Amino acid sequence: MRRRIVCNFDVCIGCRLCEVYCITSHSRFPHDVLKAFKLDGQRPVPRVTVEEEGVLSFSVSCRHCQEPECTKSCLTGALQLDAELGIIKVEEERCIGCWTCVVACPYGAIRPSPGERKVAVKCDLCGGTGEVPACVANCPNEALRMEVWVEEG
Ligand code: SF4
Ligand code: SF4
Repeated sequence: MRRRIVCNFDVCIGCRLCEVYCITSHSRFPHDVLKAFKLDGQRPVPRVTVEEEGVLSFSVSCRHCQEPECTKSCLTGALQLDAELGIIKVEEERCIGCWTCVVACPYGAIRPSPGERKVAVKCDLCGGTGEVPACVANCPNEALRMEVWVEEG
C-alpha cells in the first residue's frame, strides 16, 4: 500500500496556498499561519512546489514511488520505505546532506534544507499518520486529494 497526493490541474489556480500551509504545518506553529511566517526563525522549506506554464498550474510533491530512484541513490540509507505508513521517509539522523537524492528524483520532489544542518526535505504527508495533509485540507479549489494505491506485482 502506498499513499500520495494527486493534483487535478483542471482546477489548480496556482494560488500557492499548498506551499503556504505546507510551510506552516512543518513550522514550530503548525496551526497558525501568521506565527509560522512571522515568528519562526528558520522558515521551513515547502515540500510541495507549484509549477506554472501559462494558465496551467500544478502542485508537485513526492509520488512515494513504487521503485523510488531516491532510495536507490541514497548513499547512507537515509531514504527508506515505511511500509506501514506507505510512504518514503527521510531518516534525518542518517542524512549527510550530499544531495544525491535531489539529483536522482525524476520529479524534483526533494529539496535541500536551509541552514547549517543539511537534511533532505520531502513530503512526509504531514507525518503520514493518516490525517489529511495540510495542503489537501487547505486547497480552496479541492484540487488536491490523498490517494491510496496498491503496488503492482
Ligand atoms: S522523492 Fe522522488 S523518487 Fe523518491 S519517492 Fe518521491 S517522487 Fe519518487
Ligand atoms: S542527501 Fe541525505 S537522503 Fe539524500 S542521498 Fe544524501 S544522505 Fe541520502
